[in-house]
Amino acid sequence: MNYYPYSLWLKRHYGEKVYKLPVNLPVTCPNRDGTLGFGGCIFCGEQGGGHETLSSKTSIREQIDTNKRYIGKRYNAKKFIPYFQSHTNTYLPLADFIKAVDESLVGPDIVGLSIATRPDTITDEQLRYLEEVQTQRHKDITIELGLQTANDDTLKILNRGHQCADFCLSARRVKEAGLRLCTHVILDLPWDNREDVLKTAQVLNKVQSDFAKCHSLYIVKESRLHEMYANQEVPLLDESEFIHRCILFLTHLNPDTAIQRLVGRVPEEFSVVANWHKSWWKVRDNLEAQMMRQGNFQGQYYTKYEENEDGRKNADYNKQ
Ligand code: SF4
Repeated sequence: MNYYPYSLWLKRHYGEKVYKLPVNLPVTCPNRDGTLGFGGCIFCGEQGGGHETLSSKTSIREQIDTNKRYIGKRYNAKKFIPYFQSHTNTYLPLADFIKAVDESLVGPDIVGLSIATRPDTITDEQLRYLEEVQTQRHKDITIELGLQTANDDTLKILNRGHQCADFCLSARRVKEAGLRLCTHVILDLPWDNREDVLKTAQVLNKVQSDFAKCHSLYIVKESRLHEMYANQEVPLLDESEFIHRCILFLTHLNPDTAIQRLVGRVPEEFSVVANWHKSWWKVRDNLEAQMMRQGNFQGQYYTKYEENEDGRKNADYNKQ
């Protein structure tokens, strides 16, 4: 394989296959309710990013047990990582957050926890608690932060309500707490150019993101993006440009960053347009075939970090 898949990282780390169990917390998003912004990101639908989750009214234990039974039987899985997936999973009072974390980490077959959130919505108290949990209970904690792109102008169009610098700051806090970092990016945003995709890879390198989760842009029903698309305001890119940008991203990314996902996935009933009307895995296969044909591989143009005089690590991007 010409890139480093997360499945391989899991196997190396735990000695066997490990599966994520989606958990839906009863949370919303500060970019929707007016705390940080209104209306949410233009690509986000009512589901808040999770389309395969059970109801948030179901208890955490029940969600975990139900998904564990299903995934365990289907894949003969024995180790699991609960995944707080939809909306902003640190947007809740500290006591509720602690309760949710504790409820999720019960049992020796639970090896860690993944928490998806916004870069501007994670408190020092939450990070301290997670650091303590990781150290004392030997469960690996990953924070998944949405960056989407390094281009601040595009972030504004997306109505993200934060800038790239906010992401970098938050990423540093996550790493300083000793937690793992996964960064979400969308590689075919029509307001970005190829240079922006390259810069996005460089930002992940700079913050030393452990994992990357890449998406192709899809349009969720009844999102603001859906409205813009209907008004012909979204010049969607074609599959070959997506693949080109994906290869650009991967070849400049640190080869040690494990790839959790390469292509967006959304059930048909929730979307208007997704993956050029193909299955996500066909797009992934096309991408892998093109990398193979061209002799591309992850980290091909990656330049190692060098210590500067402050002892802080900086990438020398000019050496490519
Ligand atoms: S921050 Fe996340 S949950 Fe909130 S609107 Fe954006 S994508 Fe949706």
